[in-house]
Amino acid sequence: MTAFPAASPQARIWRDRADALINEHRLDGRAFIEGQRVAALSGASFDSGSPIDGRVLTAVARCDAADVDAAVQSARRAFEDGRWARQAPAERKRVLQRFAELMVQHKDELALLETLDMGKPIQYSLSVDVPLAARCINWFGEAIDKVYDEIAPTAHTALALIQREPVGVVGAIVPWNYPMLMAAWKLGPALACGNSVVLKPSEKSPLSALKLAELAIKAGLPEGVFNVVPGYGHEAGQALALHMDVDALGFTGSTRVGRQMLAYSAQSNLKRVFNELGGKSAFIVFDDADSIERAADTVAGSLFFNQGESCNAPSRLLVHEAVADEMVARIVAQTTRYQPADPLDPSTVMGALVDEGQLRTVLGYIDAGRQEGARCVAGGAQALAEAGGQYVQPTVFDGVRHEMKIAQEEIFGPVLSVIRFKDEAEAIRIANGTPYGLQASVWSQHIDRAHRVARALKAGTVHVNQYDEDDITVPFGGYKQSGNGRDKSLHALDKYTELKTIWIRINPQ
Ligand code: NAD
Repeated sequence: MTAFPAASPQARIWRDRADALINEHRLDGRAFIEGQRVAALSGASFDSGSPIDGRVLTAVARCDAADVDAAVQSARRAFEDGRWARQAPAERKRVLQRFAELMVQHKDELALLETLDMGKPIQYSLSVDVPLAARCINWFGEAIDKVYDEIAPTAHTALALIQREPVGVVGAIVPWNYPMLMAAWKLGPALACGNSVVLKPSEKSPLSALKLAELAIKAGLPEGVFNVVPGYGHEAGQALALHMDVDALGFTGSTRVGRQMLAYSAQSNLKRVFNELGGKSAFIVFDDADSIERAADTVAGSLFFNQGESCNAPSRLLVHEAVADEMVARIVAQTTRYQPADPLDPSTVMGALVDEGQLRTVLGYIDAGRQEGARCVAGGAQALAEAGGQYVQPTVFDGVRHEMKIAQEEIFGPVLSVIRFKDEAEAIRIANGTPYGLQASVWSQHIDRAHRVARALKAGTVHVNQYDEDDITVPFGGYKQSGNGRDKSLHALDKYTELKTIWIRINPQ
């Protein structure tokens, strides 16, 4: 990791830790099935490389249908014999809380895996990804012995019990942008309810998921309840989604692949599919917003966070024409704070894009923006090529029209599209004018307008005068082609439980 100039003492510490992990071959890319590390049955593997500098981290098991079948069988056995499903909720809670504690104890290693694998700054892996993932596991564990079932208000001649039961074997397929956190959003509720899980991490970031499986076993989760099958989407992912013995599929990823998940379900056993998909979130600033400065700081901070690789990134700024010049000038000034640098330096705020393919995709959208006539007023180019990694400058396009590609499609990189509007009706029409509906934000001091616009927006979450609030207690998910079902909060339990009604006759004598 020497390509970055003038490493601070803190950066050197993390680089040394990374070197030790990689050079001493302590990274294990084998699958995790039936409580054990195993190579793919075919013996195949692929190299997992780091987008920080192109270095190979380790060989990862290239699981295919045979490995997935072994993992599903293991999960099924574990589910049917009740080694986890029939434990008292208080006991499952104890194990999940221990699991979360172990995650916190291993936070440096987990954070390093995340940063090396997908390029995000180490400070955020440490302060965001690991603690939020651990909190998610802990929260669902804590919650599960406080969830009551129901008795329906029927006539006196019978009793109708409405009970939640675990669905059985849950397949979880997750992306690379928050590898551990997205896994935790599936694992927390699915395990708390008593299900067995087979997790397929992204081929671009499999290492933290594999480590999580080790920690779960150490925490007391019985063997077979949580299996991890790394591999490619069209191999391991497809095999899991098509498997006849998987009862529910929790998918987080692109809308394109989410559509395929529904097709796989239709082609196989009609397994329940819950899709958490892409977004093109609108950040709407009216001319009566209380602080243009705070709005500009917020949109820049939220969009450039995680290199723009967030499903809920506010990638479209819709700004009233009266305040647009000031807003754009402030955001452009902010881009100096978000220049990419060494992800292993704890002062870095913008890291590497996940791989060369993603860099090409983002640069392709930047070209498209220029060709369609938008004005690139900041960034617009690759950065730090000499480091051997995948970096791009924070980029702002002004003068974007609603129909342009960069206004309609999810870029998944640090690129902001600024669209000016004249009135409220136009702002709502533009905001709702994409296939997506994940999040939005409204900036106005006018209480009627804030409520009116929040109600009119077709999005799973609408923020008013902020964008940063987030908590495990609130549901997360999208309208329209951003998906269905909700992660986080008690609503997530709906995805991983079946509702069973038991009618009991009551003899009136
Ligand atoms: P992706 O759809 O390419 O891949 C997601 C997962 O699906 C990976 O594990 C991949 O291997 C697997 N996969 C790919 N093709 C498959 C196939 N044919 N069959 C089965 N599995 C397959 O997405 P990505 O590039 O990893 O992640 C970025 C996307 O995820 C963005 O669109 C982003 O918005 C979305 N995302 C959504 C949320 C949310 O909560 N709504 C959160 C994070 C990311």
